[in-house]
Amino acid sequence: MGDPENRKSRREYKVSVFGDGGVGKSCLAIQYSQSIYNDDYDPTMEDSHRKQTVVDNDTALMDILDTAAQEELEHEASTYHRTRGKDGFMLVYSIANKKSFEKITELHQLILRQTEKKSAPIVLVGNKTDLDSERQVTFEEGHALAETLGGKFLETSAKNRVNVDECFTELIREIRRCDPGYQA
Ligand code: GDP
Ligand code: MG
Repeated sequence: MGDPENRKSRREYKVSVFGDGGVGKSCLAIQYSQSIYNDDYDPTMEDSHRKQTVVDNDTALMDILDTAAQEELEHEASTYHRTRGKDGFMLVYSIANKKSFEKITELHQLILRQTEKKSAPIVLVGNKTDLDSERQVTFEEGHALAETLGGKFLETSAKNRVNVDECFTELIREIRRCDPGYQA
């Protein structure tokens, strides 16, 4: 409660989107920031997207780093900028691709290693719910993994714009929740 002017708010939220190639990271970021579903976005592109929004009556300027193909995970120096100075992380897999789900724990460990933290604000996202007939990961499996990682969980469809705003909103809430200087 209280006067927004008196809040110790952070204005800018720098986040990074992680996940296996092809899970829909770019589609989610573009749907969120531009309300466009871009079917053929270059998988090698690393891009950032900005969007001004209001969450729980408090302004947030989102700065989203959409990471490119990351087969080169072993070369951590080259991926360091993906975590440096970031406030929170979105970990994305495809509900129609078990392998992308199994990759999440590895990516989470990379984030903790690079941020040198025991925990980080994260949201786990199971994308492509429109492909329910090809589902390989249950909602319960996703939910359980999010609990293990200590983050929120949502299933989304970037294609149909289902839960797209919500997953970024939840990430802002997680960042605020983990910020001792933030007073709602
Ligand atoms: P990235 O490599 O994680 O950035 O994945 P992209 O955002 O480039 O998406 C890879 C492919 O998955 C694209 O060609 C999209 O057509 C498709 N895709 C992304 N999101 C969805 C979704 O929600 N549903 C379906 N059916 N396909 C999607
Ligand atoms: Mg991409």
